[in-house]
Amino acid sequence: MSEHSMIEARPLPDITDVAAPFWEATRRHELVVQYCAACNTAQFPPEVSCTECGAPDLTWRPVSGRARLYSWTVAHPPLLPYFAARAPWPVVAVELEEGPRMVSRLIDVPIDDYAFDLPLEVAFEDIDEEISLVVFKRAGG
Ligand SMILES: [Zn+2]
Repeated sequence: MSEHSMIEARPLPDITDVAAPFWEATRRHELVVQYCAACNTAQFPPEVSCTECGAPDLTWRPVSGRARLYSWTVAHPPLLPYFAARAPWPVVAVELEEGPRMVSRLIDVPIDDYAFDLPLEVAFEDIDEEISLVVFKRAGG
C-alpha cells in the first residue's frame, strides 16, 4: 500500500466484542440495538449492562429503521485527511423511533435541507467485506 493511500484511508470503527453483533447485523443490512430483559429499555451504543437499570441481561433485536434528525454539526478542517478532502463533512445525531440516538451521516439530504425532526430511514453503506456503516436517508425517499 502506498504512503498516499494509507494517509487517505478512511478511519473505520474498531469492532469490539460487545459491539460485534451490531456489525454482523449491519453486514446483513439490518439495524439492531440492545434491549434490556429486565426493564425493556432499548439502548445504543452497545454496553455490557443496561444503562437504565444495570441489569446484565441484554438481547439484540431489530428495530424499525425509522428515525428523526435530532441534531447535527458540520465539520471543517482541521480534520483527519480522509475527511478534510471531503469537507465540509456533516455529522448528524438521529433519534431512533425506539429511543436510542446514533451518530451517523445523511446520504441524500443537502445540508441546507437539514431540519430538526426531519423524518429519516436507515440505509447501509458497504465499506469493505467486513464493515457496512449505518447511514440515514430521507424517509420514503
Ligand atoms: Zn434495564
